[in-house]
Amino acid sequence: MSMDSVMKDLKAINAKYQMFHTMSDDISAGDAKFLFSAKDNLTSKDMETCAGSRILEGYHPVFDATCISKLREAGGKLVGKTNMDEFGFGTFSTNSGFEVPRNPYDLNRACGGSSGGSACAASVIEDHMSLGVSTGGSICCPASFCGVYGIAPTYGRVSRYGLIDYGNSLDKIGVISQKATDLKKYMEMIAGKDEKDPTSMVQPDFKTAYRKMRSVAIPKEGIEGLSKEVEAVFKDAVEQLKSMGVDVDYVDMPSLKYAMPAYYVLATSEASTNLARYVGMRYGHQEGDHSLKFDDYFTEVRSKYFGDEAKRRILLGTYARMAGFGGRHYAKAREVRQVVINDYKRVLETHDAVLAPTMPFTAPRFDDISKMSALESYKADYLTVPANIAGTPHLSVPCGYDSNGMPVGMQFVADHWNEDVLFSVAEDWEKQFDLRRPEMSI
Ligand code: GLN
Repeated sequence: MSMDSVMKDLKAINAKYQMFHTMSDDISAGDAKFLFSAKDNLTSKDMETCAGSRILEGYHPVFDATCISKLREAGGKLVGKTNMDEFGFGTFSTNSGFEVPRNPYDLNRACGGSSGGSACAASVIEDHMSLGVSTGGSICCPASFCGVYGIAPTYGRVSRYGLIDYGNSLDKIGVISQKATDLKKYMEMIAGKDEKDPTSMVQPDFKTAYRKMRSVAIPKEGIEGLSKEVEAVFKDAVEQLKSMGVDVDYVDMPSLKYAMPAYYVLATSEASTNLARYVGMRYGHQEGDHSLKFDDYFTEVRSKYFGDEAKRRILLGTYARMAGFGGRHYAKAREVRQVVINDYKRVLETHDAVLAPTMPFTAPRFDDISKMSALESYKADYLTVPANIAGTPHLSVPCGYDSNGMPVGMQFVADHWNEDVLFSVAEDWEKQFDLRRPEMSI
């Protein structure tokens, strides 16, 4: 569908795909240079911001996140806030307090998570860029399930001011789009040190010149546990890369196996402290029995408005940080994080990127997701989590389709601040890749 007809019918499209939690009243292009949407954990002045959580229902921020104000200054118009897992806790966007986005290639399947609504919007709407946020893989996973391009930049590249925190040492704001060339264009607009966010870094210039990717390393640990179909599609994609002049080596990265458990200790520890501020007093829901003691009041509000996964993560994270256990869990997880960084540094000394499929399977059906245990869905992240705990930039490109027509993605991981080589390989890939748009009807 063309951009005009899509924008005209956006409300009807949204009723079908459920990518937006909130839409702007004015979705016409008007004078805007471009239209964009943003994950609903990025604050925006003119729209409610809930981060997928009912506890924030009714929260109307009085400020824009830095990335949103930068895009507005560059002539962009924000048309909607996208559905997501509550506070980013999930892999399929099904842990949402609100609407669950549906995969554009098959409405019975998930979009991935937690930036599922953003990937859905980028896949369905032509010429559309959506901001996503990745803590443990939430940009590349949904980009791969929805057949689009997505980048999570180096940690500290983009200001987190205005981002509703999940894990402060992990969260990264990035871009999802149907076009590889958009990634560089919009990342350039949002990158940079920001005085309002002490975790945004003084950084090497954002390099935008073309830099050919010459070599990739495929870790053995990154091609274990794949579905047969993902394995086959990835194999063909690797052959294609070789024919594009990229050298491919197979390497060992033993630390990757430990990244997933370490991530869930780090991420839940940070999340459980971040969620402590939601006590039904300053944001969102504030009703409740005010005659209760403080503890009883906030227990009532938190029990009612946090979803199950948020509660599970509060319990996990609080346990991991408990006096006496901190050394056993959190400190250990930080050591693992350093070992993972060292492993990437070692391999990236001799290669431009580390490559593996983005996800071990294609977008699952909702009925299968409902049968998965929490642990099974955590495990699905083993390919995206390592780069996220290392803070290294990573980019997913669509690389083929399975026998049901569902997209498969592959993920390149470069060294810190080396996004340029990721943009270049994605642009080279796009020139020869036969992207199948989802068939759309409303
Ligand atoms: N699926 C991972 C989690 O649940 C990653 C999510 C994210 O990056 N926000 O934590």
